[in-house]
Amino acid sequence: MKYKRILLKLSGEALMGDRAYGIDPARLAEYAEDIKLIHDQGVEIAIVIGGGNIFRGVAGASNGMDRVQGDYMGMLATVINGMALQGALEDKGMLTRLQTALKIEAIAEPYIKRRAVRHLEKNRIVIFGAGTGNPYFTTDTAAVLRGVEIHADVILKGTRVDGIYTADPEKDPSATKYETLTFSEVISKNLNVMDSTAFTLSQENALPIVVFDMNKKGNLLKICQGENIGTTVQG
Ligand code: UDP
Repeated sequence: MKYKRILLKLSGEALMGDRAYGIDPARLAEYAEDIKLIHDQGVEIAIVIGGGNIFRGVAGASNGMDRVQGDYMGMLATVINGMALQGALEDKGMLTRLQTALKIEAIAEPYIKRRAVRHLEKNRIVIFGAGTGNPYFTTDTAAVLRGVEIHADVILKGTRVDGIYTADPEKDPSATKYETLTFSEVISKNLNVMDSTAFTLSQENALPIVVFDMNKKGNLLKICQGENIGTTVQG
């Protein structure tokens, strides 16, 4: 395996499948199967999951809600997704722990870095919920932050597209895909990989990011085996 310890970032929207809102159980089960393939190979797996399928603070604020209130609601949405993912993984026989940046003791451990690492060493999958625990941040930033903290080898950003393109491939059919990029190329070409806080944190800590299509079965395993099927940002 190319990677020993990964931080997998899944967006909340990915969990919707073909729905307009919420969680598609079939999609969740597919993700759990894909995660099991790499778990069976001994890869240590930490996961940060978004909340955009349920609530986004920015959307609340644009409808007149206090932004901070909305962001806390968004963080709670990530906990709901984390619990759903935890259930799906355990259903397939994997051991998991959910750790949250906001304390919700009846359902999750509080985030403790040393404890998270210990779980990973014991081959438990650790899901980090509630983002960074702070408003005005995103789960992409939480993913990079946790990835840096636990010394992950890479951030694997699972999306609907199979990498980073010269333009949005859903809008511009002539767009072409990059196989690899450096951090400074992403900035100079003005490419949208993650929000700038997340991206800068990754760059400063030399933590590579791989953007890949999580909706194709087996892709996660291929990436961990070293196949270059997405776009890698490093160096
Ligand atoms: N959020 C936050 N702080 C964090 C992470 C998330 O306030 O550290 C809130 C924010 O309102 C965000 C929402 O939680 O819109 C859901 O997260 P995100 O939009 O990153 O989810 P995704 O786009 O990955 O589904």
